[in-house]
Amino acid sequence: MENKISEAARLIIESKYLSALTGAGISVESGIPPFRGENGLWSKYDPGLFEISYFLSNPEESWELMKKLFYETFKNARPNEAHFMLARLEHKGLLKVLITQNIDGLHHSAGSRHVVEYHGSTRNLTCTHCSEKRESSEDTIAVSLPKCSCGGVLKPDIIFFGEEIPISAILGVQDAIETTDVMLVVGTTGEVFPASLIPIEAKRRGAIIIEVNTQPSSFTYDTTDIFLQGLATKILHVLEEEIQKLL
Ligand code: ZN
Repeated sequence: MENKISEAARLIIESKYLSALTGAGISVESGIPPFRGENGLWSKYDPGLFEISYFLSNPEESWELMKKLFYETFKNARPNEAHFMLARLEHKGLLKVLITQNIDGLHHSAGSRHVVEYHGSTRNLTCTHCSEKRESSEDTIAVSLPKCSCGGVLKPDIIFFGEEIPISAILGVQDAIETTDVMLVVGTTGEVFPASLIPIEAKRRGAIIIEVNTQPSSFTYDTTDIFLQGLATKILHVLEEEIQKLL
């Protein structure tokens, strides 16, 4: 493990365009339940409740559920050492872009700036009538059905099932895939399509993939070059120490 950490640290320092891809695994340590797996949301709730068609026909019920599952959980969640480590890597000029599948906004809270939120985020709302965007606030969502000044229903900027990934996120990811030479994959097992293609496509274009996960994933054997097994906070802490030694 020690050798693999030193090798990963060296690759990160020598990289020309380091990117990162994060998933639910990085936020679990901040108390945010994942969607998948044993205690995931899909084991308790019907994914059909997160179809865009359900939201559009039952906005009030959908909002009630989203407040309970997302807004209330996220309000009390704080970024953990893994989020902060990635923010520090960016501030040091090493990490150029961070792609996240998480909608919790914790990378922003930790201080990351160049973030592509591939599945959107609860931090912003869009009017389903006039398309105006605004930041989400406790006041705006305090009512049972949050509405825009035009009267339209506000929708969180998260990607519901049946919705397209926003073009800005697609372009951001495309750009990262074309440019990156080292990709750090943290806390994502590659079960969610099309996000699962990101490391595969980066690898196909010649990038080295460093993976941090508690268990082997669908990337580990075919895509990953260096697999660092363990909790994101622990592994990234040791990795950061090793990077500091080499800088
Ligand atoms: Zn509106």
